[in-house]
Amino acid sequence: MLQTALHYSHTLLKEILQPGDIAVDATMGNGFDTLFMAELVGKTGHVYSFDVQEQALNTTQEKLLEADLSTRAHLYLQGHETIGMILPRETPIKAAVFNLGYLPKSDKSIITLPTTTKIAMDEILLRLAPRGRLILVAYYGHVGGVEELTMVRDYCERLPQEQFSVLNYQFINQKNQPPILFCIERKKN
Ligand code: SAH
Repeated sequence: MLQTALHYSHTLLKEILQPGDIAVDATMGNGFDTLFMAELVGKTGHVYSFDVQEQALNTTQEKLLEADLSTRAHLYLQGHETIGMILPRETPIKAAVFNLGYLPKSDKSIITLPTTTKIAMDEILLRLAPRGRLILVAYYGHVGGVEELTMVRDYCERLPQEQFSVLNYQFINQKNQPPILFCIERKKN
């Protein structure tokens, strides 16, 4: 069966993340991506995770503790647009993932926004390792969602093909605006 965009994001992460790698969860949310990547990067790797809501940090921390993986991730209660202040320029990011939108069952007015999402994408691409992947899963059914989706699509379409391969994965005959996935892969130097 064809994978949902969310499931496919994990397939794309699993294909490349290896023990020792550095990964970024730009939108911690319910913590599933941080947990998933913390398993893949092993004891020698690390995950840097961001969210602006304390609830997201708490849920993620609980998940990591249950799995005995809390030493593999740093959780930041701050926006992903600050990534440039946390990770030095020479940090080789092997994978980064965004879930755009609002946190399910939470405050629907706290959403990711085009300007800050773009800043974070810029900062991550500056650090993306060869064959590294920046993955975005865009939910856009909410107010403001289409603007963000448009920004991400335009951004992706403009990336030079000499440096990046960009994939777009979406179901085109489904109701209820299923999420759309974008994956930017840096080509081998
Ligand atoms: N809509 C998705 C989940 C999106 S969660 C789904 O249904 O599965 C998006 C997360 O991004 C939320 O937890 C929200 O708090 C967080 N967020 C919003 N702005 C942010 C920012 N500037 N930096 C980091 N996280 C942010």
